[in-house]
Amino acid sequence: MLQIYNSLTRQKEIFTPIDENNVRMYVCGMTVYDFCHVGHARAMVAFDVVYRYLRKIYGAGHVTYVRNITDIDDKIIRRAQENNEEPGALTERFIEEMYRDADALGVLRPDHEPRATQHIDEIIAMIKVLMKRGLAYQKPGSDVFYDVSKFETYGDLSGKKPDELRAGARVEVDENKDDPLDRVLWKLAKSGEPAWDSPWGPGRPGWDIECSAMSTQCLGNHFDIHGGGLDLQFPHHENEIAQSEGATGEKFVNVWMHNGHVRVDDEKMSKSLGNFFTIREVLGKYDPEVIRYFIVNSHYRSPLNYSDQHLENAKSGLTTLYTALRGLMCGSEAEEIKNEFSGRFYEAMDDDFNTPKAIAVLFELARECNKHKSSDPLSAAPYAAQLKQLGALLGLLQRDPEAFLKSDTGESASGLTAIQIESLIDRRNAARRGKHFVEADRIRDELASKGVVLEDGAGGTTWRRE
Ligand SMILES: [Zn+2]
Repeated sequence: MLQIYNSLTRQKEIFTPIDENNVRMYVCGMTVYDFCHVGHARAMVAFDVVYRYLRKIYGAGHVTYVRNITDIDDKIIRRAQENNEEPGALTERFIEEMYRDADALGVLRPDHEPRATQHIDEIIAMIKVLMKRGLAYQKPGSDVFYDVSKFETYGDLSGKKPDELRAGARVEVDENKDDPLDRVLWKLAKSGEPAWDSPWGPGRPGWDIECSAMSTQCLGNHFDIHGGGLDLQFPHHENEIAQSEGATGEKFVNVWMHNGHVRVDDEKMSKSLGNFFTIREVLGKYDPEVIRYFIVNSHYRSPLNYSDQHLENAKSGLTTLYTALRGLMCGSEAEEIKNEFSGRFYEAMDDDFNTPKAIAVLFELARECNKHKSSDPLSAAPYAAQLKQLGALLGLLQRDPEAFLKSDTGESASGLTAIQIESLIDRRNAARRGKHFVEADRIRDELASKGVVLEDGAGGTTWRRE
């Protein structure tokens, strides 16, 4: 039985969908004005694993996953002005770049990806309801705000009372607000800024109301799971709850899930510290599946510490798993006889998506593959099939092992192509056959110096990149 840690109640709870024929999940997506960074990669991968596992439990057609795209906000407008380009052209460009990164990391596309600019009518409709209910206000000539003091349970998600939040919040003083905690629902446009007509003047939606309106539009007033990074818990998610429940009078979300922060070499990742990495930069150094493995190998709620050493460890872990699969037939046959392994794997996943524990089971299967491989490759095949099937739930191990082990990515690149490596191996084999062992060893050392590892076995010589 799946248990999920609910940030709202601060405990693990048995997950019971509202409708098990349609399990509904919303995750806050990207604001598209620049390349995605490693923090985005973590959130995308963490919730991709949740999505894959829910599909496994309830069936692929019975899960609806929505991740929004924020395609209008202050940062977008500013960046477009700096670039001297239309905001729409800027956001289109970075939506494409986001897909390139997400696809590389094996992140499945959500079922719906609503964009703020395509849901202005629903956003305005929700603000109108909040105004009518006396939960929102506008002073003459000013933006429209949500009145936090009217929402009794404000602060429940972050576990803080409004007074503590006021003391801790770094909020700029705005004379148009009644309370520094009040957040903007509708922002009036300055001249030259993109604007939509509204009862409160031409302007654009605030970020929090965008998620409230689009999640409700796509998933209904009350749905199962809402996710996002821990940094979104307050004020963004706190406000989503206040706005949605304020507008509908119904409970908004059953389970709130938050993934932990990304740290770099044990420090907070930030632009000002200069330790800020885009996904694209990391993809230049490491195989995308290594990056995914690195993310999944840590529990989604723990901090994720990015360092070259951890990426190298991820690479060697994944190499071990692919090496076990190498040379084995692993058809798609369901191998129930191996369910002692799948049982442990599911047990780990059922415990709030404990992916590091699930990966440990993959290593047990890899050991079985290796144990049986040399004596009786046929008897190893079911273990290999199981390894690959369980790996798929984490979005891992779906490539041809040869292709992974011979792939040439980033800084470890030897500069040798596969054809050059194979021709050197042929020369070495010829030297060995002619008993020219000094020459054979020289070729082996040359390849080793370029990061190519040779393994001589009964079936000949295989190779992989280090
Ligand atoms: Zn959101």
